[in-house]
Amino acid sequence: MIKTDIIIIGAGPVGLFTVFEAGLLKLKCHLIDALPIPGGQCAEIYPKKPIYDIPGYPSIQAAELIDKLMLQIKPFSPGFTLGETAETLEKSSEGQFIVKTTQGTSHMAPVVAIAGGLGVFTPRKPPIDNLSEFEDQHIHYIIKEPSFFTNKNIVISGGGDSALDWALFFAENFASSVKLIHRSDNFRAHNDSVQKALDYSKKGKIEIILNAEVNNIDKKSGLLVMGVKSKNNTTKVIKCDHWLPLFGLSPKIGPIGSWGLEIEKNAIKVNNATDYSTNVNGIYAIGDVNTYPGKLKLILCGFHEAAIMVQSAFKRIHPNKNNVLKYTTVTGIKGF
Ligand SMILES: Cc1cc2nc3c(=O)[nH]c(=O)nc-3n(C[C@H](O)[C@H](O)[C@H](O)COP(=O)(O)OP(=O)(O)OC[C@H]3O[C@@H](n4cnc5c(N)ncnc54)[C@H](O)[C@@H]3O)c2cc1C
Repeated sequence: MIKTDIIIIGAGPVGLFTVFEAGLLKLKCHLIDALPIPGGQCAEIYPKKPIYDIPGYPSIQAAELIDKLMLQIKPFSPGFTLGETAETLEKSSEGQFIVKTTQGTSHMAPVVAIAGGLGVFTPRKPPIDNLSEFEDQHIHYIIKEPSFFTNKNIVISGGGDSALDWALFFAENFASSVKLIHRSDNFRAHNDSVQKALDYSKKGKIEIILNAEVNNIDKKSGLLVMGVKSKNNTTKVIKCDHWLPLFGLSPKIGPIGSWGLEIEKNAIKVNNATDYSTNVNGIYAIGDVNTYPGKLKLILCGFHEAAIMVQSAFKRIHPNKNNVLKYTTVTGIKGF
């Protein structure tokens, strides 16, 4: 059981900044995220795009903002449970919240801050009926531990950044062989990655199969056997250890939707006049996941909500302590 002061669900920019604001009040945080890396939408959807509405930065790349937030919260040593979805929430006999993940990891705290953004990013799956028979063992939509693929024959499907980045990565590291299958001859990925993949293809490091799709799968002698159909209706059979269909992730509010919280238009209703609390005492919702009159889904609004929310969490955790706001320039931060 992981025990902390605030369980933060979602390690996007807002969840990360909450650690900083809580840390100033000496409150410990533990973050849970379904993605294998911190950063939320900034890391998953647009890491290389610039953001323009962060005060003090005329423009900053999304991935760089996440790096800076990680640096900013380092002195407060937050805990992370990554690659696991927060699935159930219940109350202990002492009135603490217990949040369990899909993998069974348990977390306990007096306060829960939901910073779940647009929700859990759920993989877009190929339209093949018997996928679930081979998922986890041979089919993977998210790569959590690249070394798992050491000396394996890998097939990657997709034409976006994720497919190209992982194809290049595995061609350079771990894998025994890499095939890249794309249903068109036009990649959506960054030009540099496409060029590098084409160069690797000439050198025999990646086999690229264009205008084709996997349309059936089976298993034989411990290998995944895939029927790959091309646009000109020819079919070829490919065998591999692992298939990574990387067609992107689409967000869904997910399990949080059944925790008894008031939901409006796929977002959690909060009290914006006070502290961004939900209808359940001790549970707050901040960032893109919440809704209230005039809500703006911008990172800086989520940062503001986090600062207000932790003040309320402090009072809940330490009802007998008086917290007087002190400027951080006066108190300083150990480690900076
Ligand atoms: C293309 C694009 C450009 C943008 N440009 C800007 C911009 O210029 N300026 C700006 O201010 N904003 C911009 N935004 C919006 C900005 O990205 C969001 O406002 C911001 O990411 C919200 O942060 P968040 O931390 O609330 O949520 P998110 O970034 O969505 O992170 C939420 C995290 O919660 C996790 N999660 C959800 N449910 C669970 C669960 N049950 N268990 C475990 N984990 C869970 C998700 O996996 C995710 O990682 C842009 C968005 C997009 C898509």
